[in-house]
Amino acid sequence: MGESGWAAKRLLIALAHPDDESFGMAGTIAHYVEAGVSVYVICATNGDVGVADPRFLEQYASMAELRLSELQCAAETLGLAGLYTFGYRDSGMAGSPDNGHPDSLVSAPVTEVADRIVQVIRDVQPQVVVTFDPYGSYGHPDHIKMYEATTLAFEICRNGLELADTTTSIDFNCPQKLYYRTRNRTYYRIIVNLLPLFGVDPGQMGKNKDINLRAIISHTYPIHARIHTRHVSEQAERARLCHASQLGGLAQPSLLQQMQRLFVNPTVETYMRAYPPVKDRRVSERDLFAGIFQSSH
Ligand SMILES: [Zn+2]
Repeated sequence: MGESGWAAKRLLIALAHPDDESFGMAGTIAHYVEAGVSVYVICATNGDVGVADPRFLEQYASMAELRLSELQCAAETLGLAGLYTFGYRDSGMAGSPDNGHPDSLVSAPVTEVADRIVQVIRDVQPQVVVTFDPYGSYGHPDHIKMYEATTLAFEICRNGLELADTTTSIDFNCPQKLYYRTRNRTYYRIIVNLLPLFGVDPGQMGKNKDINLRAIISHTYPIHARIHTRHVSEQAERARLCHASQLGGLAQPSLLQQMQRLFVNPTVETYMRAYPPVKDRRVSERDLFAGIFQSSH
């Protein structure tokens, strides 16, 4: 495939919070940008509910303003071709009072969010779309909402359906593949078994004790694609550092972080292929663009 073939490739990644792109997929993004693919990111919320040390907020009017400026830093570091923000309010973790805010992403009708994603797909005309897995990586309601809305948007395109709120029909190239970013649960199973030996409850992890590793491993999805990102790890790390307010105490990594370093290879990012549907269980791709055909667009 020649240079021009790569230049025509477009990847759209639909996510929920400023930092989802860097904490989950920075390697994949940096890998494809380096290969000449135009990578676009949707960030549906402003990350309003993030918790940050007050010193990070000094120069900003709000948490949202801080988070969006960190996102802008990551977008520039990664070399995104475009960044779309939808401006919904961060819904917080499941069960938190922020879920019920009328402006929250979880309060928005899924058809409304899907409609906005379809508009971005019309703009970008990506061949490949990526979003969260059905459990939203670790059960975050905003992640699950983006999984639902992005899957619906993809289906609207593929089926050529009329949009819910407009009379516009699909008059553009639909994406050919849909992937869900999903972590390899095998490693997390080992970690869940080890943590209690150190007196740590795997059901209450993270800065806010709201990450339940047991629930995560009970939602396991097949892995169909592995993107190797060692060659861009420096750049991916720089993107992560843009989100300084969300990194917590870097000097003292948590036990979970230490175990992740031991068991999880951070330079391989794993994906489930949702479309085309996988019939052969042994599908093992090294490229999200494998098998796509180039349109004249
Ligand atoms: Zn998130």
